[in-house]
Amino acid sequence: MKTRITELLGIEHPIIQGGMQWVGLAELASAVSNAGGLGIITALTQPTPEDLLKEIERCQSMTDKPFGVNLTILPTIKPVPYDEYAQAIVGSGVKIVETAGRNPEPYLPLFKEAGIKVIHKCTSIRHSLKAEKIGCDAVSVDGFECAGHPGEDDVTNMILLPLAAKRLKIPFLASGGLGDGRGLAAALAMGADGINMGTRFMVTKEAPIHDNVKQKMIEATELDTALIYRSLRNTARVFKNSIAEKVVEIESRPGETKFEDIQPLVQGVKGRELFDGGDLDKGIWSAGMIVGLIDDNPSCEELVARIVEEAEDILSNRLREMISA
Ligand code: NAD
Repeated sequence: MKTRITELLGIEHPIIQGGMQWVGLAELASAVSNAGGLGIITALTQPTPEDLLKEIERCQSMTDKPFGVNLTILPTIKPVPYDEYAQAIVGSGVKIVETAGRNPEPYLPLFKEAGIKVIHKCTSIRHSLKAEKIGCDAVSVDGFECAGHPGEDDVTNMILLPLAAKRLKIPFLASGGLGDGRGLAAALAMGADGINMGTRFMVTKEAPIHDNVKQKMIEATELDTALIYRSLRNTARVFKNSIAEKVVEIESRPGETKFEDIQPLVQGVKGRELFDGGDLDKGIWSAGMIVGLIDDNPSCEELVARIVEEAEDILSNRLREMISA
């Protein structure tokens, strides 16, 4: 497939593995890139900017294809030296960055000067238009179905994608609720230039997380996610385990919820322990509604090939038959 995204990023298939805390390591990113998509290393998964540089070097030794780095700027428990992480990315020679969370404008001059293409993740049309205006090369339009932070507007991709197609000039990815060939074909039909998948790539052989987590996601239905931090205006969609249910219960109590009330339950380090040890009620983990459509644990190579094949079949056979009848 050739789209504005494959051309912009120099990749074979319009499938991007979005940034994922604790999951976006060199193993997964290189596997996605070697499969012809774009793998992404998650900057904040590395404890320091120096560690990020080492992780990027490790990925460079595992693939000669392009890959990117995600830099997410959202509230964190410990302050993050974002400028130093941005400098580490520039110094590494990586040429693609996915920004998320806050407006990436302060970092654009630095990235542009280094010849880096910036894809900004946006959960609304107004943020997408702003990203275009400040000089981002592409946006990833994140519908309400997505894992992690969907924003506070609750608009699904059925509306966001056609709106993006109408209003944006720069290429855009459909993100949230994508995980199979039907999704890719539909996203392209709605005007997107490719898809961004997170949750689906968590259930692949190369994803560095415990098999218990993958198995739980295979068994899950589309009803098995929960929205937390709604009361803090930092909404996140996570897998509906006992901890997520507890957080929702605390937030529903009368009066204002303070982050301190839920911090021990949600801290990222517990999510990491959950991924490493397989105790499914150790903490919370991000998961999108697409869990309802995941029913196997393929390699990234198998997954990407299958999605492209399915989408091509839909586009060139099913849809063509409808209009030639
Ligand atoms: P962390 O351990 O610092 O915090 C845990 C969670 O609490 C995060 O979701 C964070 O956004 C939230 N949080 C922290 N302080 C808060 C506050 N004062 N008010 C409201 N919410 C608060 O974070 P982590 O799990 O190590 O993740 C590191 C970064 O990656 C964070 O910025 C996090 O938001 C982001 N992240 C993004 C996604 C995504 O899907 N987009 C998923 C996981 C993590």
